[in-house]
Amino acid sequence: MNLVFLGPPGAGKGTQAHRIEKAHGLVQLSTGDMLRAHVANETELGNLAKVPMERGILVPDDLISAIIAERLDQPDCANGFVLDGFPRTTQQANALGVMLEKRGLSMDAVIELTVDDAALAKRVTGRFQCANCQVAYHDEFNRPKVEGVCDSCGGTEFNRRSDDTAETVMARLEQYHKQTAPLLDYYGERGLLHRIDAMQDIDDVTADLENVINSV
Ligand code: AMP
Repeated sequence: MNLVFLGPPGAGKGTQAHRIEKAHGLVQLSTGDMLRAHVANETELGNLAKVPMERGILVPDDLISAIIAERLDQPDCANGFVLDGFPRTTQQANALGVMLEKRGLSMDAVIELTVDDAALAKRVTGRFQCANCQVAYHDEFNRPKVEGVCDSCGGTEFNRRSDDTAETVMARLEQYHKQTAPLLDYYGERGLLHRIDAMQDIDDVTADLENVINSV
């Protein structure tokens, strides 16, 4: 099964993708995580992506499509994947369509996590992640079960994203509405779009996701 998660920053795409990855053996493909690794390793791509990421704007389509194309050829993608953060523009969606067709693959569902804009700043500025496995937590809504220990891998180091600030979230939200929201119609017209109310509790969002997955 191949899925795409769409939704503004802070909608919970990463959190839910991680849960679905564990429950269904699908691999989570987060372009944000991939880019942050490139930035940390100071690769050529990382150096190109650093400034746009810090400003909350998108990195060029061809760069990001190239990393996804390469990633899809790795053997762990054969069992299916959840795309988290890609595609984000119509050009990326077209590129994804071509990539999948070339590989004899197709998309089973595109799932939009809907959240009120007013809730997003609080969600984004309170979040942190495990430095080892990147599982996401939140100061208020989703703390580790044992304080200071990652529920998923037992890691004890956490970090906060430098772009999770109140100012940058506004830029990221604007990019979402301008560049990514058109994909809702794009996939709606293709009969692939499902919507889930992501204002609910994390577990209720997961339950709704499971229903969608079972229905496709
Ligand atoms: P995310 O972790 O998905 O919130 O992404 C963090 C940042 O990485 C974004 O604000 C963009 O600068 C960049 N980024 C991630 N995915 C993409 C993409 N598909 N296209 C362009 N830029 C991206």
